[in-house]
Amino acid sequence: MDPQGESLESNAPDGDSLRRHLSTEYGIEGTFSRLAGENDNFLIVEPAGRRFVYKVSDPSRTSDIVDLEHQAVEAIAVATNLEVPRILLTLQGAIESTGTLPDGTSVRGRLVQFVDGSPWCEAGSVVPGQRADLGRRVAEIATILSSFSHPAAHRTHRWDLGEADHQRHHVSLIEDAERRLLVQRAYNLYVACARMFLDELPHSVIHGDWNDENVLMSEGRVVGLLDFGDCLYNPTICELAIAVTYAVMDESDPLGAGAEIVASYHQQRPLLAKELKVLFPLMCGRLAASVSTAAERRRIDPGRSAWFVHEERAWRALDYLLQIDPADAARELGSGTGLEAYADRGASSRELLEKRRLHIPTSLSVSYEEPLKITRGRGQYLYDDRGQPYLDLYNNVCHVGHCHPRVVAAGARQMEVLNTNTRYLYDGLTDYAERLCATLPDTLQHCFFVTSGSEANELALRLAKTHTGHEDFLVVEGAYHGHTTTMIDLSPYKFMGKGGSGRAKDWVHVVPLADGYRGPYKGQGRDAGVAYGNEVGQVISSLDRPIAGFICESLLSCGGQVIPPEGYLETAFAHVRRAGGVCIADEVQVGFSRVGTHFWAFELQDVVPDIVVMGKPIGNGHPMAAVVTTREIAESFSRTGMEFFSTFGGNPVSCAIGMAVLDVIRDERLQENALRVGTRLRDGLHGLIDKHDVIGDVRGVGLFLGVELVRDRATLEPAPREAEHVVNELRRRQILAGTEGIYGNVIKIKPPMVVTEADVDWVVAMVDEILSGPSPS
Ligand code: PMP
Repeated sequence: MDPQGESLESNAPDGDSLRRHLSTEYGIEGTFSRLAGENDNFLIVEPAGRRFVYKVSDPSRTSDIVDLEHQAVEAIAVATNLEVPRILLTLQGAIESTGTLPDGTSVRGRLVQFVDGSPWCEAGSVVPGQRADLGRRVAEIATILSSFSHPAAHRTHRWDLGEADHQRHHVSLIEDAERRLLVQRAYNLYVACARMFLDELPHSVIHGDWNDENVLMSEGRVVGLLDFGDCLYNPTICELAIAVTYAVMDESDPLGAGAEIVASYHQQRPLLAKELKVLFPLMCGRLAASVSTAAERRRIDPGRSAWFVHEERAWRALDYLLQIDPADAARELGSGTGLEAYADRGASSRELLEKRRLHIPTSLSVSYEEPLKITRGRGQYLYDDRGQPYLDLYNNVCHVGHCHPRVVAAGARQMEVLNTNTRYLYDGLTDYAERLCATLPDTLQHCFFVTSGSEANELALRLAKTHTGHEDFLVVEGAYHGHTTTMIDLSPYKFMGKGGSGRAKDWVHVVPLADGYRGPYKGQGRDAGVAYGNEVGQVISSLDRPIAGFICESLLSCGGQVIPPEGYLETAFAHVRRAGGVCIADEVQVGFSRVGTHFWAFELQDVVPDIVVMGKPIGNGHPMAAVVTTREIAESFSRTGMEFFSTFGGNPVSCAIGMAVLDVIRDERLQENALRVGTRLRDGLHGLIDKHDVIGDVRGVGLFLGVELVRDRATLEPAPREAEHVVNELRRRQILAGTEGIYGNVIKIKPPMVVTEADVDWVVAMVDEILSGPSPS
């Protein structure tokens, strides 16, 4: 039996034994012949001409599933003139016959009425009205089944279009490399554009397999529907998607043909725009599942032709359909409905670029050679105005996934009730502070809530200055801590970068970037960590003033996705504390479980900072940030008498959102996901090092990774142009990443934490493809 509970082996008894069995169980006699198709079905023709089909039950077809099939057929039979295979009870009144045959085999099966008609696939050329009739019938059955329920319907199986990507692992069995890529693209489209949204759509029991062998025709009209074996509770739209997929598979204009079916379905059962939107990606998902299943089955029995009847046709359809943008496909399929699935397209990229010139200063640049017009986000995906999905590999703000429904609902709910400021009492503030502090060491329990990472770092500096009475700070080479005036003065990434004019303030002291790949301690492991830590000590001793503190990201993001060698923060913190300074961990990019093994990245280095700064992921895109510190530092700040107040910081809506983010991290086990998927991605990228000389280093923890490109592995000459090329090529392949680092030669990867193994396998394949292609000129 395969993992989804369907036996792929035939367990049919021989004809003679079966004949005797049916005579005893049902009192019928007649001639027997085996029917073509996926299952073990036998046609029985009585001398008087009555026909039946005996369907041998697969071992996985438990009695409750057979009952589901029986009840669904009955519900339809009493409500419509569409012919369906009603089950005939045994002489004992049972739905199934069971027994041991004289030849020793055991049998379990059900006897159903034969349904007349020619399968759609054999009915010849399509006549006017035929497609409309199909749409009408699919809608009719959907309407009937919308009030039908059965506990056994809540199941899945290999043809479950609500979970078609469960067949994705069979793709590796497809021999042709181009076809593998094609079907992977189909799965990407299915997951991003359909699967992500299915939970929000109407659900009901569906037949589940309106394929062109199960739909029976007579004189150009749909008269029967066979095989309720795939019946299950599903998004209702899946039924239409399956019917359309098979009915138009061989058409030269499949979407035009599909539109006729959809229009008449819509007349009978009005579609929602969001159902229309998923229709095309569902069709692609069905085709992908079909060709992947065929690949799996070929391994089992290549001679069983019934398994492969759709295979080549499905490949041809996929090849054609995947050239079409989802928005165009939805428009075409829905052309007879009056619905607009993509009403949010707005102005074109070109128009927007022109408009930006009028009002948005050019100091704010737009990403990519070909800028992207994004119209929505969900999970790990962003969607452009053509409906095409992009795998977002570097937005660490939308931490638990773009527009996570729980986070959105929490914010909306609270916004409806109350949004005020922290000078009033409300449960949300203290509940959230308590919950946030529970993730931190016992010494860090005092919170300040603000609205951006820059603001939080500003406050961290004020806290450190007030507590120590000193002014000077140490900061790491390549670091970025925010866009406010003080933060720009403090951030070497800015003052040493494009447009910067070097260090402007004498209270800022730069210490070396603890880079284990480059620099004087290259490849020295923990020794490098201690040595870099001691460099912090050396800078401190070179100063003629005491320091207020040391600000450092626990992993260095803008510096080039650098993972400091073990021992670095421990050594550096010891020097800073000995000099009377406080240690500030900027966790704006790296906190909230991203590193996979811990909730906070500073825990990787076994240190406890005096101040932790949080931002970006804390509100999943809602402007929110926090500073958490020790009681002593908080009290020093209070003692001055100057009040702390941030108008928006810690407001009830922010607290509700922050709480929802923490809930989702816990409930969706995103820390574990970061570790598992991140390690898989790092290993996959690492596996490319031997193949592509330009990859100098692959590093990372959890879902915080960097791929450093070099022109020469001995001199480590940085390859920024090559990195830019890879990022632009990834964008063309619908994967969004960026470059980072002092030399701009590091590809940064820090995706939403919901990214999956299938996503990262695709990323590795695409990076490999890009690096195997022409290099930038
Ligand atoms: N600290 C770090 C490490 C950051 O990466 C950033 C933003 N990129 C900030 C602080 C500033 O955060 P914000 O943009 O929310 O002000």
